[in-house]
Amino acid sequence: PEAITVQELASRMAERGADVIKALMKMGVMATINQTIDADTAELIIGEFGHTVRRVSAADVEVGLEGDSDADETLLSRPPVVTIMGHVDHGKTSLLDALRQTDVAAHEAGGITQHIGAYQVTLPTGKKITFIDTPGHAAFTEMRARGANVTDIVVLVVAADDGIMPQTIEAIHHAKAAKVPIIVAINKMDKPGADSQRVRRELLNHELVTEDLGGDILAVEVSAKAKTNLDKLEETLLLQAEILDLKANPERQAAGAVVEAKVERGRGTVATLLVQKGTLKVGDIFVAGAEWGRVRALLDDRGRNIESAGPATPVEVLGLQGTPLAGDVFVVVDSEARAREITEFRLHRQREKLAAAAGRSTLEQMFSKI
Ligand code: GDP
Ligand code: MG
Repeated sequence: PEAITVQELASRMAERGADVIKALMKMGVMATINQTIDADTAELIIGEFGHTVRRVSAADVEVGLEGDSDADETLLSRPPVVTIMGHVDHGKTSLLDALRQTDVAAHEAGGITQHIGAYQVTLPTGKKITFIDTPGHAAFTEMRARGANVTDIVVLVVAADDGIMPQTIEAIHHAKAAKVPIIVAINKMDKPGADSQRVRRELLNHELVTEDLGGDILAVEVSAKAKTNLDKLEETLLLQAEILDLKANPERQAAGAVVEAKVERGRGTVATLLVQKGTLKVGDIFVAGAEWGRVRALLDDRGRNIESAGPATPVEVLGLQGTPLAGDVFVVVDSEARAREITEFRLHRQREKLAAAAGRSTLEQMFSKI
């Protein structure tokens, strides 16, 4: 029962079927591309190819973005990737806009024009922070559900005149489920009714104990409107990033996640990708979910053409053949043939899943009629 076809195993490792067959032969296992091998053999093969195994269920062997690890000495420190969450109207969008304006590089370049799905701020010290510009926990959970773990730190925005509200609590749950550290931004401190102590006390009810109350949750009083304490919030994010010791290997084929993708008239599919490891370059062939493409152009978060993008950099990419979904994982591959092979396999699997789901619902319908 715990089995996987050689074809499927090869696809999940992004290796050639013929190479997997050869490796199997070396182990004394004769199998054709369509034959199944048991999970233990699969695990050995995965090790042979230098990938690591993640068994999603007993019968499932998955190799993904986490799968292929980079040697320690190849890892360099990278900027944190931050997602802003919180209750509606507590100031997520305002805070994202205010933080964007603290970017020293943007001001040097004469203003901020472009809006893509994510942006990067360079602080006066030269340190960088990447923000996912799709606030709200819907985007966060949707991306996680599709396999992308892009967020290193969640900024939980709580309006100081309103306190903890239902969506604040949901956001806390999502961040905890994802094991992503939370930094609290107590916003709207400029308002007459602002009471940050009340917010800190209310956080206690959700096991978030701020430092002043003896815990380890960092909280910063800000005003997105009056633009106060934004530098303090950014320093706090960098402090948390340092604790997390975020690193990536920039010297490898790029992999990361789709933040958003849409079709634009005259440009084709335009995707915002977040590079998580490696460096994405113009001309690279990549697979994103069930779609593939060749990077025709790379644009930074201000719409300027760039040649390459390293870890934690958000980029707009032109050249996709179809439109992937937010949260799809992307990986650079060696050839167009490889890209086609992987996407065909994934499409096939999607259809199988849909068929299985359809089968299940008819069964449920049958039973509900009994
Ligand atoms: P979101 O729904 O969380 O994205 O909230 P918005 O950023 O759209 O803000 C909701 C409302 O609160 C808007 O009218 C903002 O102008 C206002 N707002 C946001 N931040 C502040 C702040 O720091 N002070 C004050 N006084 N108003 C704010
Ligand atoms: Mg908003």
